Amino acid sequence: RRLTVAIIGRPNVGKSTLFNRLAGKKLALVDDTPGVTRDWRSADGYLAGIELTVVDTAGLEEAFDDSLEARMRRQTEKAIDRADVGLFMVDARAGITPLDRHFAAFLRKGKTPIILVANKCEGNAGKPGLMECFELGLGDPVPLSAEHGEGMADLVEALTPYL
Ligand code: GDP
Ligand code: MG
Repeated sequence: RRLTVAIIGRPNVGKSTLFNRLAGKKLALVDDTPGVTRDWRSADGYLAGIELTVVDTAGLEEAFDDSLEARMRRQTEKAIDRADVGLFMVDARAGITPLDRHFAAFLRKGKTPIILVANKCEGNAGKPGLMECFELGLGDPVPLSAEHGEGMADLVEALTPYL
């Protein structure tokens, strides 16, 4: 069956980059400015023969009177509500931030299964951040480089139980 996968995580971790790779087209806006995607988008794609509907989330820069945490939480709730699996992405180069920890705690309480993905793992710069991921209580991180297309086989393996 087609698997609906929502990519969630704080701004600038590489969600839209992974979305574009999975969708196979340049649909989401990727930018160096944190939170540049205006809306969530969804697209159908394939990953090693798995039929996916991928949901990209963002738009967190737009509210004025609300905290980043509150906005991110609302958006994440909406996205994972309709998803079979959530991919919670962190930036292994930046390491785990307080916002990542906050979100991990929130996601651990939810019903949607979560796969932890550590992005920007090409080369060695991601190694310390990857180790920090184990503290999040969301299982073993899947190391990825969305930009370079590394780790996709491990992502497939992580998704397989939910097919
Ligand atoms: P989003 O805000 O989570 O959607 O993040 P974006 O996909 O817009 O990416 C934010 C920044 O991270 C951009 O400059 C991307 O080029 C960069 N980026 C995304 N994936 C990778 C990766 O695998 N490795 C590295 N080094 N940078 C990446
Ligand atoms: Mg984005």
